[in-house]
Amino acid sequence: MTGWQITAIGKILKINATEMLEDVDSAKVKLTRTLLTGEDVSLYTGEEKGKFPIIPGRRAVGQVTELGSSSPLFEKGTRVVLSPVNPCGKCYHCANGNPTECYDFSIAGKTTDGFLKDFAVVKTSAIFPLPQSVKDNEAVFTDDIALALSVIDKLDMEKGQHVAIFGGSVFGSILAQLVIYYQGVPVLIDDNEQNLLNAKKSGIYYTLKVNARTEKEALAITGGRAFAKVAYLTRSGLSADLAFRLAAPSGRIAFAGYSFPNVKIPFPIALGKQLTTVSVTNGYGNYEPAINILANKAVDLSVYTLPLTKMDDIETSVGKMAECYKNKQPLPDFMFNMLS
Ligand SMILES: [Zn+2]
Repeated sequence: MTGWQITAIGKILKINATEMLEDVDSAKVKLTRTLLTGEDVSLYTGEEKGKFPIIPGRRAVGQVTELGSSSPLFEKGTRVVLSPVNPCGKCYHCANGNPTECYDFSIAGKTTDGFLKDFAVVKTSAIFPLPQSVKDNEAVFTDDIALALSVIDKLDMEKGQHVAIFGGSVFGSILAQLVIYYQGVPVLIDDNEQNLLNAKKSGIYYTLKVNARTEKEALAITGGRAFAKVAYLTRSGLSADLAFRLAAPSGRIAFAGYSFPNVKIPFPIALGKQLTTVSVTNGYGNYEPAINILANKAVDLSVYTLPLTKMDDIETSVGKMAECYKNKQPLPDFMFNMLS
């Protein structure tokens, strides 16, 4: 296996190691595409504390090349998406058959090696077959769709409800598109013009740029009722204060994201309005529904298609992301072709 390992803050090295099937429940997967985003390099930049060395990358697709034992779901050559999140199997909830509430999920690229490598050995429970109609460049977003489904679920969103979404990344756009799919009314808020434009092109009608009028404009969209549901993307860098101000009394706010930067929470507003906050950090349990969403073309990811970057350019690409982080600019995403 050839992989790229973060050895310390600001250091990434190409490594070679052997990956062998572990047991009858494991599969060897030849990775074909790995998507790297700001969430993946938060350890590399030092934004988040973590243990080194670690291989980054939580979103990947590939092809099964070997199986520990024959399976009705997979055979050699089956295209699959890999789940980056797996329950520990040992904690109270896992032991009681409720792995979605696991205390200690293993997370690829964060607590265990991720998918910035050419081969991965994984449990067959952590791979999901892809229908022919779902392309690789869409399938790498399965994890984000699963996370968005978990957000909608935990927000308890009802038909016709307004949902304010703070953060216009591709994940924010996916979440807004799914809110529409489940008949809610999303209002996407961001400070980046290009993000809002991309969201508009993907079918989001209400997009607002953060400025002095945002609060008034957002409230006007709800007819003054404010937002029963608010999603705050943890890495959006936006004002949590505004998010809490836009929430309706007894409303629900979801903090959603894979990495956890320090965000200041306006406690008095939360108490004053008796808001309920929920945290959503993974989409475990929603991978199959997420693949169905893709197969049904319920989300439009066409504006988010990235050019393929060669494996040779991995170190320089990660360096570029770190540079943007240092200069407080939006981090570019990279889609790596793990075949060349
Ligand atoms: Zn567990």
